[in-house]
Order: sequence, then C-alpha cells, then structure tokens
Amino acid sequence: MDVFYNSTRNQGIRVKASEAILKGLSEDGGLFVPDHIPALDKSLKELSAMDYKEVAYEVMKLYLTDFTKEELKGCISRAYDAHGMHGKFDTEEIAPLVYADGAYYLELFHGATIAFKDMALSILPHLMTVSAKKNEVKNEIVILTATSGDTGKAALAGFAGVEGTKIIVFYPKNGVSPIQEKQMVTQKGDNTYVVGIHGNFDDAQTGVKKLFADKELAERMDRRGFQFSSANSINIGRLAPQIVYYVYACAQLLKEGKVAEGSLVNVVVPTGNFGNILAAFYAKNMGAPIGKLICASNENKVLYDFFRTGIYDKNREFMLTSSPSMDILISSNLERLIYWIAGKDAGKDRELMEALAGEGRYEITEEMKTGLEDFYGNYASGEETAVRIKELYEKTGYVMDTHTAVASCVYNKYVEETGDHTPTVIASTASPFKFTRSVMLAIDGKYERMTDFELVDELASLAKVSVPAAIEEIRTAKVLHDHVCGKEEMQKAVERFLGLV
Ligand SMILES: *Cc1c(COP(=O)(O)O)cnc(C)c1O
Repeated sequence: MDVFYNSTRNQGIRVKASEAILKGLSEDGGLFVPDHIPALDKSLKELSAMDYKEVAYEVMKLYLTDFTKEELKGCISRAYDAHGMHGKFDTEEIAPLVYADGAYYLELFHGATIAFKDMALSILPHLMTVSAKKNEVKNEIVILTATSGDTGKAALAGFAGVEGTKIIVFYPKNGVSPIQEKQMVTQKGDNTYVVGIHGNFDDAQTGVKKLFADKELAERMDRRGFQFSSANSINIGRLAPQIVYYVYACAQLLKEGKVAEGSLVNVVVPTGNFGNILAAFYAKNMGAPIGKLICASNENKVLYDFFRTGIYDKNREFMLTSSPSMDILISSNLERLIYWIAGKDAGKDRELMEALAGEGRYEITEEMKTGLEDFYGNYASGEETAVRIKELYEKTGYVMDTHTAVASCVYNKYVEETGDHTPTVIASTASPFKFTRSVMLAIDGKYERMTDFELVDELASLAKVSVPAAIEEIRTAKVLHDHVCGKEEMQKAVERFLGLV
C-alpha cells in the first residue's frame, strides 16, 4: 500500500514521499508524517540473513513508495559503501554492535564525519536528486543549513560533488569545537560553501529561517535556476534511513543467537532533537521486536520532565554541556510523536505547538499520556557522564564518547529503577575522537595540558583503535573556507555564492 505524507498541523495536506523530501517542512509549519506506519513484510529471521544495504531496502521501500526499486537501490548502494575510492564507511557492517558491560553498543559513527548524522546524510543527497528528477524540478537544489557542529559537516560530506546541488553551511564562528570547525573549513567540493558568522547558533538558525521565508529571494533564485531545500532532521528523508539500523540491530542479535526469535530488545538513545529515538519508535511500530524506548537527556532535561509530567516546558536556562549535540530545548521531532498520541489529530497538535511558540510550554491530556507507555526518560549530569566513561574504560577497555555515555548512565539508572534486564541496544552516536578532550579528561585529569592532536594519538593508543580517517584528514588539510560575516550579512553571502549579485 502506498504511503502518503500528511502535515502534523493539517490533515488536508497530503504529498508523496519525494515531494515531502524536496519540501522538508510543510508550508503550515508542520512536519510531514506517514499516513500510516507500514508493517515489515519480511520476518526478522529473513532480515537476519541480509546485509545492511538489503535491510535498508526492505525498510525504506515501505516508506518511499513512489521510488522505483532501481531508484531506491541506486541511492542505497551509493550511500552505504565500505569499499573502494568512494567508500564512505570504514567498516563492512556499516553499523556494528559491540558488547560491553551488559549492553550492546550500536556504533553509528563509522561514516565520513564520525557521528550518527552520517547514517542519514550519506543517503539524503541521493534521495533528494532522485526526488527532484521525479518531480521535474529543473532548478539546482541549494541546501541551506545552520549548524552547531555535527550536522554541518555531515551534510557537507553528503552533498559535496553531488550533481544538481549546492550546499551552504552557516556556523557560529566561536561556538563550535576546534575539531568541528577544522572539519568544516577544510571541506572540498566546488558546490560547497562554509561561512562562520559573528553570532551564536540561534542567530545562524534565525538567519537561515529568514532566508527560507523570503519570497522575493525565492523568485530571484528561481529565475536563475536555484531553489532552497533543507537537510535538517525534520526532513523525512533523514527519518526513514534512521529506522533501518534499529531493524538491522534486532536482526543481527537474532543472527548471533543473542536473543531468541520473538523476544524483545530495549533501546537507549541519547536524545536532542528527538529524531533518532523517533526512528526507533517507528521501527517498533513496524513490527521490530523492540520493548522499551529509553530516552536519555543531558542537563537540558526538558524531555525527562516531559515523560514524568506530561508537561513540555522550554522556559529554563540553556545549559552548555560536554554533550553539545544534545544541547537543545526545542526537540522538533517530538511533534511527530505528539501528533501520533493525539490520535493523528492535527488540530490538537497545532494547538499544542502554538502554545509552545507562544508561552513556551504545553501540557498533554491524560489520554495522550497513555500513548507514552513504551517510553522511559531520564538524564545524566556532566559529572555522571565523565565517571561512566572512565568506569566503562577501566572495566572493559571500551572508550565511548560523551553523548553515548549519557545513554549508558541512563541505562544503568533504568535497570536500577525497574530491575528490567531485557537485552539492550545503546545507540552510540559519535566516535570518541570527535569529543577527544572531554573523553580523555574524563579518563584522567593528567591530559589537561596536551593539544587536541596529541590527545587524538593518546586516545588511539589507549582504546587500541586506529585514528579515524576523518580525523587524520584534517590534521594536515588546507583551510578552504575562511569566509566570516556578520549575522545581518547572511543573505549577501548566499547571493554572492550563487552569483546573484
Ligand atoms: C545529533 C546528535 C544527537 C541527538 O540526536 P537527535 O536525533 O537530535 O535526538 C546525539 N548525539 C550526537 C553525537 C549527535 O550528533
């Protein structure tokens, strides 16, 4: 059965998958949601005999029903390749499972930029170009992104050199880690453009939204053969590929005899914008044998409070933590869950989202709360996170990054609170090499005085793994982007890059 996409704020809007991918966001400000969650049409046993690409096809074909088999398989094989010159992943399994101290770590960081964003951003450019063709879009697609670090580089790596696209990334000049900045400003590809802005992430985000909404600019761009699109996590072209690895993980555990056929697996996800854990929720509702969905937050624990009370309240201090990719107070993708637990009631969803935009807070009904039974939320402080990194390393030799460590802490809290020892998968969202300083200082304060790249080498010898290519590359890479502009000059920067002025 074909899947169409409705807006969470207007049931009357109904588009095909390829249209939803091209648009990113619905015109009414809502997010596109599938009109039904399709059921897996292969058994877990059958899926367990498949490799990552084959599982990706079995899952994504159910969502992208207006793609032909050849189109979808083409996208998948170009994205998830561990071989040859253009191989984007550094491991055959794409998403390996590593057992350590009572849980399976699902390593989602083996792509080009060593964070889980690669799992979806390596395929999104291909989905986007196929969607453009299907809808007879003649314009070049200009991806416009504001980033606090991880998304920008993953989107750059995904779109670099992709025909028919250009990508522009704005990042806060003094608001990203040195490794994150170096990763972005050394990006190759004629179709890439990276600009630091004098301002913070919110300024970058606000500027980008303004550009998206500028009708006059859109018309001028259209005359010159360009149109904007979005690569951020509200695009269903990012959500669908993220469902794949949860199904794959369940299938791999069955294959390795770690779980019996028909028994459940819990998942723990370090959460910011709620995209990754929402994908696990979709996987469960498709029939993957997933039990609890454990939502792990850092000190920005707005989701923890929500799961305990049914009240979402962003009126609080924004905390800078050692897991910066989860420093967020508005988890955009939660809207898709709200819509679902409201019984697909777009009116109710709109009412709550307007309250969020107005008062910064909303409360769900008692009835909606019953839809959250599969979720468990908790959080970990920076101190707890650091202690857990050191503890796991000393116990097992396994070194995890700060975001994964938040999940690992929350998992331990969950087990202590519930006594539930169901086999558990922890989504490991970044390589420890991406947050080397926080990770190494958690293990030993003596690393304080080392430089970032000295720490990289020290981590490699400590964890007995080789330095990822993504880090090796930037050690000596030339800076190719040194544009910096004021937050008021973002439009000018875009016009200059596109040759509109
Ligand atoms: C983006 C990110 C997250 C949060 O994922 P969401 O889908 O936004 O919840 C967690 N960890 C890392 C390393 C990330 O880059």
